[in-house]
Amino acid sequence: MNRKKKQVRKKILIIYTGGTIGMIHQARTHTLVPFDFREVSRQIPELHHLNCNLGYHAFVHPIDSANAQPSFWEELSQVVRKNYRRYDGFIVLHGTDTMAYTASALSFLLENNGKPVILTGSQLPLGAIRTDAKRNLITSVQIAAGDIPVPEVCIYFNNRLFRGNRSEKYTSSKFEAFESYNYPPLAEAGTHILFNKDALMKKPGTPLKVHSGFDTNIALIKIFPGIHRDVIDITLRTPNLKAAVLETFGSGNAPTDKAFISVLDQAIQRGILLINVSQCSGGTVEQGKYETSYHLAKAGVISGRDITTEAALTKLMFLFGQKYAPEKVRKLFEKNLRGEMN
Ligand code: ASP
Repeated sequence: MNRKKKQVRKKILIIYTGGTIGMIHQARTHTLVPFDFREVSRQIPELHHLNCNLGYHAFVHPIDSANAQPSFWEELSQVVRKNYRRYDGFIVLHGTDTMAYTASALSFLLENNGKPVILTGSQLPLGAIRTDAKRNLITSVQIAAGDIPVPEVCIYFNNRLFRGNRSEKYTSSKFEAFESYNYPPLAEAGTHILFNKDALMKKPGTPLKVHSGFDTNIALIKIFPGIHRDVIDITLRTPNLKAAVLETFGSGNAPTDKAFISVLDQAIQRGILLINVSQCSGGTVEQGKYETSYHLAKAGVISGRDITTEAALTKLMFLFGQKYAPEKVRKLFEKNLRGEMN
């Protein structure tokens, strides 16, 4: 008697949202424009030979990801929600420009996610001879349909799988467009796909909860030598502003100039949350290490520790979008919610 268990083919949903991966050259305007998604399986016949069953969902209006808005992130989370029981994993074809924002936002929307949600795209369009689209898409599907559980929102690009809310697009021209400086890759694909099991999330014990709501009343201020206090002040006096990310130097340092500090002080007094995130891609904010960050801690600026700017902004939008009071947002911001900070 054959006791071999019959392997069940996994079901993977490919969601097409737009981006270079699905673009073609339009002769009239000499620009790249989104193409008909039905082309995907024609362009990549290998998809039919993978050991899984594929489903397809295309956004009605594919976008260049530079046009992504919070409503787009919510639409995407709803596609996952509606198909969550039917599919074992999700591949999101997405433009690279704001992929790290979408991955971060999705990670906050999908609480207790127990399935792979892998964003991928390409630097060259699918139709280009040297395209990186095929291998990015094929390996993403293989990871999602594989035996190793990947219960999190990830980005797969150029042979590496990253935690989505730890990633950033760091080059616009190389094939390895993404990096995760403060968290190791979750997997690396060579002749074999090697997983870093210790780095992967564990499957949640509770069911998926899909949140909704983002509040965009937040700001990002990049500090630079010579920045005018009025620029900061005016930004922090934007009507209805709830929080701002301050992109500081090194381990969280900023000028000690009194005029600068008093602008931050006043904003905090008005109830605005200020988050200290480093301009460095790697490393962590350590408020108080230098005098140039001690005064920020004293004023009540919150340390973003090793969070990326993308994750910090989407986390703030998400937390305020849940209608929490600023004190609760502050507490939750300081907590590691989805593996986005140490
Ligand atoms: N502008 C494109 C986008 O982000 C670039 C890309 O797909 O790589 O949609």
